[in-house]
Amino acid sequence: MNYRHAFHAGNFADVMKHVLLVRILSYLQRKETPLRVIDTHAGIGLYDLTGDEAGRTGEWVDGIGRLDESFPQEVEDLLAPYRRVVGDVRARHGQSTYPGSPAIIRELLRRQDRGVFVELHPADNAVLGERFNEVSNLKVLHLDGWTALHALIPPKEKRGLVLVDPPYEKSNELERLGDEILAAVRKWPTGVYAGWYPIKDTAPVDALFERLHAECPRPGLRLELLIDDPNDPTRLNGSGLLVVNPYWTLKDEAEILLPALAERLSQQGYGAYRCEAFGPHA
Ligand code: SAM
Repeated sequence: MNYRHAFHAGNFADVMKHVLLVRILSYLQRKETPLRVIDTHAGIGLYDLTGDEAGRTGEWVDGIGRLDESFPQEVEDLLAPYRRVVGDVRARHGQSTYPGSPAIIRELLRRQDRGVFVELHPADNAVLGERFNEVSNLKVLHLDGWTALHALIPPKEKRGLVLVDPPYEKSNELERLGDEILAAVRKWPTGVYAGWYPIKDTAPVDALFERLHAECPRPGLRLELLIDDPNDPTRLNGSGLLVVNPYWTLKDEAEILLPALAERLSQQGYGAYRCEAFGPHA
């Protein structure tokens, strides 16, 4: 396990993933009934952008670092809950902090909701536990995220969100994302699933969505932000989030957010996005 998220925190992919994570959670919280939120590959939860790791890559500069200037109002309206979470975390932990998914979930969780954060890296799991284990409705588990996913669903709460955000260190992890999400949806069909994936070359991603379109029993969305031409598979050209059981307005919201983010976060003038439905009714 060599991947450490501290090198990448706050980059364009984190921004895209976290903006959508906040939107989905906020929508689910329009109802009072409790939610279960499961983060299968959680990382350490909070990152210092002035720290050694973030400083060595500087990736955040072209991610959250490009969000200072405001967007047109309709984009700002959709970004507002994300900006609020980042601002609240910074007010508490320092202005150079960037929240990972656990800190974002913690900010948004209500008293009736429960969160479970899973992290396999021993040192990262220890940091995560120190940060979040004392919060009464949060639990940090030291387990393999894929195993934990199936052990934790269906939860006793009928509603909830599973974030699956693996490091893609192994060559089969994109196929595995498809396998595991399909198995999980069969086990807990009403849960909302958000699975992040890197876009280097588009062919393996297209293959994943052909399969999901044919086999997923629930509706889904393929949401992508491309900051560079996906013709060079050696670099990260884009960030993708597959969402199963999206709420009905998420596609319209993504069609406002993703082009604005693509324009703002693109490299060398290339900026593109994709927002497509898959599965039943698509
Ligand atoms: N979700 C985090 C966020 O948005 O802030 C970032 C997660 S990072 C992309 C992936 C994390 O998965 C790393 O912290 C890595 O240590 C952890 N990891 C790697 N293999 C794992 C496994 N099999 N089970 C659980 N966690 C794993």
